[in-house]
Amino acid sequence: MRPRDCYARPAVIDDDVRATLESAARGEGTLLALTGAGISAESGIPTFRGKEGYWTVGSREYHPQQMATHAAFTRMPREVWRWYLYRRTVCNAAQPNAGHRALVEADHTFTDRFVLVTQNVDGLHLRAGSPPARTLQIHGNIDFMRCADECSITLYPVPPEIGPKTRDDDLSDDELALLRCPSCGKPTRPHVLWFDESYDEELFRAASALHAAADAELLLVVGTAGATNLPLQIAAVVARAGRPIIDVNVEDNPFAQAAREYGGHALRGSAAQLLPKLVAALAAARPAC
Ligand code: NAD
Ligand code: ZN
Repeated sequence: MRPRDCYARPAVIDDDVRATLESAARGEGTLLALTGAGISAESGIPTFRGKEGYWTVGSREYHPQQMATHAAFTRMPREVWRWYLYRRTVCNAAQPNAGHRALVEADHTFTDRFVLVTQNVDGLHLRAGSPPARTLQIHGNIDFMRCADECSITLYPVPPEIGPKTRDDDLSDDELALLRCPSCGKPTRPHVLWFDESYDEELFRAASALHAAADAELLLVVGTAGATNLPLQIAAVVARAGRPIIDVNVEDNPFAQAAREYGGHALRGSAAQLLPKLVAALAAARPAC
C-alpha cells in the first residue's frame, strides 16, 4: 500500500489498533511514548517545518537547523541567545493540550511501566504533570542554561530578570551579563542539544532512552518528523525486537513507514485528537491487580 492510500481514511481506533493496545497493556514491558514538536503544535508552538521558524540576522535568513548549532553559537552567540529567548517566550506562553494530558493519564495508569521520551524543549509535558523521573528530555529544556565553557554540567534556570522577548527585542548588555555562568563567570548557552552535537546520558538521558526502547512492549510515536538520530534509533530497536509501533502524525514520516512495515499502525490525525482515545483504550485494557 502506498503511504497516501494508507492515510486516505481518517484515523480511528479500530479493532486492529485496539488489539495492539490490549496486548501491550497485558504485557510486562515498558510502554514507551516518543514525542516531537507536533504534539505542541496545537498548543501554539510552531514546529521546525513552518516558515515561523526562520530567523533574520541582518540581511540573511537562517533556518532553525542552522541556528540550532554550536557553529552558529560560536559565530554569533548574542543572536543565538536572542532566538532562544524569543522561542522561550512562545513556549512559556503556551499551555499543555489534551495530547500532553493524555500522556500524564497513561503515566498515572501504568506508573513505572510508562516512559516518555521527548524531543521537545518546551517543558509542556512537565507542566502538564508528567513526572521528571520518567520524562526523558533528550534535547534539553529551553528554560535552562549551562556553562558554555563546560566548567560543570550544572543546569541553571534562565534568570527571571530576563522577561518575555518579541522577535524584534534586542538583548541589552545588562541582560547578557545575567547570562553568565554563576560558577566561573564565563558565558552560558541554552540547555539544548544542537544539530552538530552528540547525545549523552548525563545531560540528555540518551542511554536511558535506548534502555527503555530495548524493554519496550509498545512504542507510541507522536508528532515527529524523524529528522534527528536518537528517535530513529529508538524505533529501530523496537522494530528489531518485533514490538509494535503506533505512529500519530498529520503527515507521513519515517516512523509511520516503520509502523506499516513491522506490523504496527500509522494513524493520521492530530495528537490532541487521537492521544486521549489511544490512552483511554490502553488504560481500559490494563489488567486488574
Ligand atoms: P519537526 O518540526 O521536524 O516535525 C514536526 C512533526 O509534527 C511533523 O512530522 C508534522 O507532520 C507533525 N505534526 C504537526 N502538527 C501535528 C499535530 N497537531 N499532531 C501530530 N503531529 C503533528 O519536529 P521534530 O521531529 O520534533 O524535531 C525537530 C527538532 O525541533 C527537535 O530537536 C526539537 O527539539 C525541536 N523543536 C522543539 C519544539 C518544542 O519544544 N515544542 C518546537 C520546534 C522544534
Ligand atoms: Zn562555568
